[in-house]
Amino acid sequence: MPESNVAIESAPLNGLDEWEEDVLERYPDKDHKFRDYAADVRPTVREFYRLNHTHQTLDFVKAKKEKYCNLQMGERSVWEAMDFLNTLVDDSDPDVDFTQIEHLMQTSESIRKDGHPRWFILTGLMHDLGKVLCLYGEPQWAVVGDTFPTGCKYSDKIVFSEFFKDNPDFQVPEYQTENGIYEPGCGLDKVHLSFGHDEYLYHVVKDYLPTEALYMIRYHSFYPWHREGQYEHLINDQDRENLKWVQLFNGYDLYSKVDTRPNVAELRPFYEELIAEFFPAKIRW
Ligand code: FE
Ligand code: FE
Repeated sequence: MPESNVAIESAPLNGLDEWEEDVLERYPDKDHKFRDYAADVRPTVREFYRLNHTHQTLDFVKAKKEKYCNLQMGERSVWEAMDFLNTLVDDSDPDVDFTQIEHLMQTSESIRKDGHPRWFILTGLMHDLGKVLCLYGEPQWAVVGDTFPTGCKYSDKIVFSEFFKDNPDFQVPEYQTENGIYEPGCGLDKVHLSFGHDEYLYHVVKDYLPTEALYMIRYHSFYPWHREGQYEHLINDQDRENLKWVQLFNGYDLYSKVDTRPNVAELRPFYEELIAEFFPAKIRW
């Protein structure tokens, strides 16, 4: 394949943030006007979902977990990971757009302002660090996008669910029943969601943060569950109990973007102390 085709295949979006901007248009809050989503969706976003839904098979998910979730990508401090993610400048106009660290701090600062516990603030700061997958060379459609269960029937509430017809798993009858390869009520921990930054970061932080934080991190892109109420037949009591935390977090993730840039240098001492409260100097990535 010529170089240019590779680029198109792996990066239809004008930067990872374009996915989040699209989610905000789909789930607008009081400050964002509801539009006819399907009619107005950007062609880049559409192409992104076509690739995501076509290529995220159960085998693909298992292979990526094998590759990344054993944490063989080296040791870094949390702040080093933030600096590393900040090198991801893929927007068309980087002067106008916020850096990745600024995005993370907007989320954590709005959580902090509402008086939430320290682990919650830290979760806001770290929740998107799994996007370093892009810097490992993964295509956008394996890093961001609403996540969904593989190995069982696709909910028609998943955005652009019509694109699943080109997923090879669509031809596997065992994967297209209600429960597919799973036991009813088996719990989300056993379910292979489409691969992306949520799942990867969960494995990086799972020994250090409380259960509620791990739910927020691992399922924040699982819109078919936390916004659409799908896949009730696969969840267990622990999932049911923690859904409210995922939903509470989603409010901050989607709606905390304001126009003022956080003063990263000024805030850094507070966050370095917060990180040190939960994490050793270096962790495995
Ligand atoms: Fe995210
Ligand atoms: Fe986010």
